[in-house]
Amino acid sequence: MTTEFDPARGRRDAVTRARRVVVKVGSSSISGENTTQIGPLVDALASAHARGTEVVLVSSGAIATGMPYLRLDARPHDLATQQAAAAVGQNVLIFRYQESLDRYGIVAGQVLLTATDLEHPTPRSNAQRAMERLLGLRILVIVNENDTVATQEIRFGDNNRLAGMVSELVGADLLVLLSDVDALYTKPPHEPGAERIAVVAHDDDLSGVELGSIGAAGVGTGGAGTKIAAAKLAVAQGIPVVLTSAAQVAEALRGDEVGTWFEAAPVE
Ligand code: GLU
Repeated sequence: MTTEFDPARGRRDAVTRARRVVVKVGSSSISGENTTQIGPLVDALASAHARGTEVVLVSSGAIATGMPYLRLDARPHDLATQQAAAAVGQNVLIFRYQESLDRYGIVAGQVLLTATDLEHPTPRSNAQRAMERLLGLRILVIVNENDTVATQEIRFGDNNRLAGMVSELVGADLLVLLSDVDALYTKPPHEPGAERIAVVAHDDDLSGVELGSIGAAGVGTGGAGTKIAAAKLAVAQGIPVVLTSAAQVAEALRGDEVGTWFEAAPVE
């Protein structure tokens, strides 16, 4: 890994050249007091869409969005109520995205998937065919875990993994993982001496990085470990990854040198 910007390796030409992009956003970035951040996120996605890029958004946030509708002040502890909140919140979440996309005349298509679906040939090819068609029709696809039949993300915060798997499924040219922190750091960013890691080589095991340096608590789940694992999954398939904050999504999708760039592994 390198904390120095190296023009030869850190170049983001791949971002602006990308024909198909998967963007993953977590619950805390687009729910509660950050519901207002859906607008700027959609602005950035619409701008990529306008230059011809096919966009898949993997968005969490169903549980967090559903909580007030079930009069819950805090995230419920039991799985059934979490699933109920997700069922209610998913609907509202998609409505909010669509309302924002309306400003650009873009239509959203909702795809609810499980990691298990993608591991089995029949549901995998069904999902692949549907998503190809949606993207061909210039629909902005919004994916979340299908929480009523799977609870991987609720339990383990694994929409990052789902995003990595979706990137592979659709043959994405780029995966953008958004979190609350602007990049991966050598240690937790508030600690003295923490440095932003600008570029991670595809064969770098990141053994020098102290985990806990990205990812937030609160309404979301997941953390640095699942984000790095998702990035590794994508780079192994030849898909480069940008890891940055939701606040920097516009810059990331413009190809600016923000966040941490994971170089894609060479694939035949
Ligand atoms: N897929 C769920 C959601 O979108 C789970 C997220 C979570 O556990 O925070 O809300």
